[in-house]
Amino acid sequence: MKKFLIAGNWKMNKTTAEAIEFGNEIKAKGFSNAKDVAILAPFTQLTELGKALEGSGIGFGAQNVHFEPSGAFTGEISVPMLQEIGVGYCIVGHSERREYFGETDQTVNAKLKALLQAGITPILCVGESLEVREGKGEQTFVAGQLIADFEGISAADAAKIVIAYEPIWAIGTGKTATPDQAEEMCAFIRGVMGGTYDNGTADSMLILYGGSMKPSNAAELLAKPDINGGLIGGASLKVDDFAAIVDAAAALA
Ligand code: PEP
Repeated sequence: MKKFLIAGNWKMNKTTAEAIEFGNEIKAKGFSNAKDVAILAPFTQLTELGKALEGSGIGFGAQNVHFEPSGAFTGEISVPMLQEIGVGYCIVGHSERREYFGETDQTVNAKLKALLQAGITPILCVGESLEVREGKGEQTFVAGQLIADFEGISAADAAKIVIAYEPIWAIGTGKTATPDQAEEMCAFIRGVMGGTYDNGTADSMLILYGGSMKPSNAAELLAKPDINGGLIGGASLKVDDFAAIVDAAAALA
């Protein structure tokens, strides 16, 4: 049976009051596949969101973290701080962080290692720009990111990392990769993991698609054999849209 994860990335949206309201409403949906669902919220909302989701089975997590456990890093949040409030997941290397906040494959790699050590599931984002795709360099580019991001990580740890393929040209643009384009890259990513580690590890890994996934296109994307779910931005902000995507995954599980 195919495994799924439907993860909502709220980015820099919602107040804590709005996060609690969303948490209560999504919990009330009583999803049969609640354990395959997670919400990645801004730091300030995590404690209260966690409380609202308690008992629902739905996971929650952060959108970024620093790789050092403590120190003189003004404005940053560490892994032990996330651990203390019980987060299960953390996004690493989102293209917005790579583009606007200087995230590199080296910092991504350090963050993955710090999260794995703490037992928090990283959701690692990779994906190419439009320019790279137009030059037909997308596979070389994504393989390069993967090799650098997984440097020094064992097969047992790699299996715990969720990979999200997020073509930059499809994020927040309303432009979705076609199901075939998304499947082609997710299968390619699984192949890179198979080559780096082994096929058993690669087959056990969750590989998500992200980029303008919404209720109208989710079922077709999620039906593809190498797509284990979605990282969802815009459509995760409304309870009914997000719930429709969760239901689409439940229908395929
Ligand atoms: C994202 O930011 O991870 C994302 C996929 O956004 P959107 O769904 O809005 O394209």
